[in-house]
Amino acid sequence: MIKYQLGCAKGHTFDGWFKSIAEFDDQQTRALLSCPTCGTTAIDRSPMAPAVMTGAAKRRVDGNTPSLRFDQNTKEKLAAARALKRALLENSQDVGQHFAEEARKIHFGETDARAIHGEATAEDAQELAEAGIDFGILPRLPEDTN
Ligand SMILES: [Zn+2]
Repeated sequence: MIKYQLGCAKGHTFDGWFKSIAEFDDQQTRALLSCPTCGTTAIDRSPMAPAVMTGAAKRRVDGNTPSLRFDQNTKEKLAAARALKRALLENSQDVGQHFAEEARKIHFGETDARAIHGEATAEDAQELAEAGIDFGILPRLPEDTN
């Protein structure tokens, strides 16, 4: 079982246990997951180690990469996405340009498992995905506009 930190569109966070990422995706797709606080089924996974990527790689590596997929049309949802992004960044170690290197080390058990975030190129992201390393890509949000 894998423990994932989950977040709802209103910014509530909670833990969920899944056999695999595929199981999480399946339950998410079928709206079987709901927030224990507000009941919404707009749930997404907060990436855990080796977690979060910001910076150069903005495009999704493939359609199965879990990431923040909240509809950003409303101010409320945007605020929730921003809060979740901030929480992710605060709860993970900034490894800057060494994201891909650290993610690989964590994946192969060469260093302590922990949540990290940092910057990576699209090529790095592709290589990590091909190596089966789980990570998420943070959306670029229209920051500081209100
Ligand atoms: Zn909620």
